[in-house]
Amino acid sequence: MKICPTCGQKIQSRRSKDISDHFHAHVTQLARETGIDRNEVYMRALIHACEIETEGGAPYPYTIIDDRLYPWRTTNRSNKEMMTAVAAVHQFAAEAGVVLKESDDDL
Ligand SMILES: [Zn+2]
Repeated sequence: MKICPTCGQKIQSRRSKDISDHFHAHVTQLARETGIDRNEVYMRALIHACEIETEGGAPYPYTIIDDRLYPWRTTNRSNKEMMTAVAAVHQFAAEAGVVLKESDDDL
């Protein structure tokens, strides 16, 4: 069990599908509570993921085209890459003042 260094919430190290579900559940909740389009939240969270490091996580992959950063989509990302994406979405939520729901019951 890891704790997000920014928001202090739990990041569970589980199978990658579960981590991916965790990420997408948070993106959905953030979009709902901020009123920002879900795709926009998804992209902003992934761009942030490319810029950070998190304990136990791997750098989130991206491509640079014409000086613009394009994060790879979450499909087929490794567990460790998704750990970084989850940390990024937690930071995004903290900045937006949204308290993420963490228990499986809430997802
Ligand atoms: Zn979380």
